[in-house]
Amino acid sequence: MPPRAQDMEEDEEVKFETSKGVKVYNTFDAMGLKEELLRGLYAYGFEKPSAIQQRAVLPIVQGRDVIAQAQSGTGKSSMISVSTCQLVDVQQRECQVLILSPTRELAQQTEKVILAVGDFMNIQAHACVGGKSLGEDIRKLENGVHVVSGTPGRVFDMIQRRNLRTRHIKTLILDEADEMLAKNFKDQIYDIYRYLPPETQVVLVSATLPAEVLEMTNKFMTDPIRVLVKRDELTLEGIKQFFVAVEREEWKFDTLCDLYDTLTITQAVIFCNTKRKVDWLTEKMRQNNFTVASMHGDMVQKEREAIMGEFRSGAARVLITTDVWARGLDVQQVSLVINYDLPNNRELYIHRIGRSGRFGRKGVAINFVRNDDIRILRDIEQYYSTQIDEMPMNVAELI
Ligand code: ADP
Ligand code: MG
Repeated sequence: MPPRAQDMEEDEEVKFETSKGVKVYNTFDAMGLKEELLRGLYAYGFEKPSAIQQRAVLPIVQGRDVIAQAQSGTGKSSMISVSTCQLVDVQQRECQVLILSPTRELAQQTEKVILAVGDFMNIQAHACVGGKSLGEDIRKLENGVHVVSGTPGRVFDMIQRRNLRTRHIKTLILDEADEMLAKNFKDQIYDIYRYLPPETQVVLVSATLPAEVLEMTNKFMTDPIRVLVKRDELTLEGIKQFFVAVEREEWKFDTLCDLYDTLTITQAVIFCNTKRKVDWLTEKMRQNNFTVASMHGDMVQKEREAIMGEFRSGAARVLITTDVWARGLDVQQVSLVINYDLPNNRELYIHRIGRSGRFGRKGVAINFVRNDDIRILRDIEQYYSTQIDEMPMNVAELI
């Protein structure tokens, strides 16, 4: 039985470093949202707003610049969709809200949620992502959409070709904002930002917002409202974290095979640090007659979409992937995350393990640790004031 919002009571105790004057709304009704949007939310199964939604939806829909941080799986991206629906004037068939995400799959997921919760208000949203036909994008945009949820490269392309007109955009939202403002994307975001009207509202959302990102926000945000979770509150109680001491790289594979039955109890995501390793591990698992799916950024978009479809439907249960899957993707049945390789930074750790334990569900994260990785694991433990114990024999019972 999936837990309902009511079961997330511990959220009430989460400590937010919130700007003064931010009110807490315990129901969607109390937020004064549009009638059709409320209907959409309830039909979608959102009965009660989560802690971050209780605090940040109102400032966003009032047009304030907002920086919102909360743990993975607590409804931040959903909040983007809800707020977007409220912000849009559906009578005006122009792009009014632009949402940028670091991966195509996340941009598409957000488009789907907007279309679902905004169903009764007839909202037109379009996922504008790389790897898809330009012609289709152009046709959609020419038809007129209220919202674009995209990845930076394709969105910028569409802006430059003038197929995406920016004149009516009033809100720019960056999901996984720290990633969007990190070195790979920063310049692209700035290129897009320069095309937006000067008074554009800016909203930043992520589970991790390191100090250097928060420091640069004054360059493009005006007197932002902050709703931030403290770092030592960032790991979720519902996600049990373990390590297996594999000693050497060569022993990881057998360890994974031993865990296979555990992986398939519900659904599992296995992270490797490179695309090559994903290919290698997938091949090796298959040679040993294990059924696995795999996905990474070198695959053509059609294939990526097919694999996402299989994994979302539950047809595929075990997914081997890279950090393309680390952020934002929401498959509620995922209850186990394996770090076959430890991630390259502290933020990625939080995002990866957060693929399990969505919205108060149970989750288990298992880290494969070589002798020379122990330092990294201890660093993560300390940084987030969390505990990572040796994997117990009965780990399957925790899933
Ligand atoms: P985040 O972006 O914080 O990781 P998501 O917005 O992806 O979280 O939401 C995680 C899961 O919780 C999704 O499956 C979403 O449908 C569900 N969810 C979000 N908000 C609510 C709510 N208010 N009530 C019920 N389920 C919710
Ligand atoms: Mg999210």
